Amino acid sequence: MVDGDEAFAETLAGAAADAAVYPSSKTRLLLEQLPMPVMLLDDHERVLFVNHSMRNVLGPGLDRKRASSVLRNPDVLAAIDFALPGSLGRRDNVCGKPGCRCKADPPQLHGPYYLWTRKVDGKTVTKMLTEEQARRYQPWFDNAADLRRIVRELQNLSVSVFDQREP
Ligand SMILES: [Zn+2]
Repeated sequence: MVDGDEAFAETLAGAAADAAVYPSSKTRLLLEQLPMPVMLLDDHERVLFVNHSMRNVLGPGLDRKRASSVLRNPDVLAAIDFALPGSLGRRDNVCGKPGCRCKADPPQLHGPYYLWTRKVDGKTVTKMLTEEQARRYQPWFDNAADLRRIVRELQNLSVSVFDQREP
């Protein structure tokens, strides 16, 4: 994720506090939308809240169960989905070879190339993927985009909750 896992964890921690105070809050609705299973715990590591995706994996009756017992269920690990940072772009290229077909009229460009671009320690890192890989990993990029959108919504909501409480 672009903003880092720490920021997301913080947001979720804030959401957990809000969810405890506001049982039918928008926070819960937002967490329900997450494509991956989400479980919020209280201070004693008991289940406070599970989203729709997590309920599908584990079934009902999780309230107040200990997290350690829930996480022993192998279905939970199998249900975890992934999110890749950065973006996947498609590009057609012109090369440096004189008289190449990529400079013909009309030009026949090289590619398509699928480039995964992300920041690592402040530097842009690019990796080329095959078309098959691009197709296979597209859902992981989509998951990350969903997460970024939901985190943005949670952050906007948190700002308005803050402003309400601390006018
Ligand atoms: Zn060429």
